[in-house]
Amino acid sequence: MTATISAPRQTSQADRRDWSVIGFMAALHLLAAIALLPVFWSWQAAASLFVLYWVTACLGVTLGYHRVLSHRALRLPQWLERIFATCGALSCQHGPIDWVGLHRHHHKFSDTDTDHHNSHRGFWWSHMGWMFRSIPAQAAVPRLTGDLARDPYYRWLNRWFLLLQLPLGALLFWIGSATGAGGWALVLWGIPLRLVLVYHCTWLVNSATHRWGYVLHDSGDGSRNNPWVAALTFGEGWHNTHHAYPHSARHGWGWREPDLTWLHIQLLKRLGLAHQVRLPAPLLAQAASRGVG
Ligand SMILES: [Zn+2]
Ligand SMILES: [Zn+2]
Repeated sequence: MTATISAPRQTSQADRRDWSVIGFMAALHLLAAIALLPVFWSWQAAASLFVLYWVTACLGVTLGYHRVLSHRALRLPQWLERIFATCGALSCQHGPIDWVGLHRHHHKFSDTDTDHHNSHRGFWWSHMGWMFRSIPAQAAVPRLTGDLARDPYYRWLNRWFLLLQLPLGALLFWIGSATGAGGWALVLWGIPLRLVLVYHCTWLVNSATHRWGYVLHDSGDGSRNNPWVAALTFGEGWHNTHHAYPHSARHGWGWREPDLTWLHIQLLKRLGLAHQVRLPAPLLAQAASRGVG
């Protein structure tokens, strides 16, 4: 499927398996399976998972890492931008600089051999296989993230993001013990099970929405609009529209394409916290014809 198979593949320094990532993911999936044992079930555990799913996947990855930091689709006060970036770091999907750099790289080279999760290499590769090997695109990150690297807090977060799970784990353990749900039950549901759930939902945006769904715009790549991925990811599944208009704060355009993250942005705007909210020309024209500013 790709130019890389035209010659016999040799395992070079640049194509090595990354055993630290493989081991980390294997351990996390095992702990997530343990969390599902009946002995760890409680409503408190389920509530911790869903609250943290919203905080890390929606506020953190989708709103913070993606729409604010990667695409600058809206502006927030620095304190709030940093809070959302911290929520993103709690998803353990790299620190903000590496996440944004790799994401900007994906937009630049989407579905080509240079794209690190090129969907033409198959579902497994674009979903999670790409991160089990060394990532050549990593070398491009400093070039693509000058705006973020200027911020000392983002540099710190980029280096130490994994450590944030420690105070979170301590808090969950305390809440679990205090409410009678069990400290370890809340830790297992709030960290490994939640992380695995958020991982796969995020990865579906790289795999499923570059494979299944409908095309509304000529974005020059394999991106699709996919309703069930949009439902799981607070609106990120409207991915063909996003690739066509990457700097738009709104990904789902009509009532048929609900975009929960866009609702959050509208709320922030009403509260006077979101500024310079960017929308594509067709949506602006639509609003102007309805007499809406
Ligand atoms: Zn994409
Ligand atoms: Zn994007």
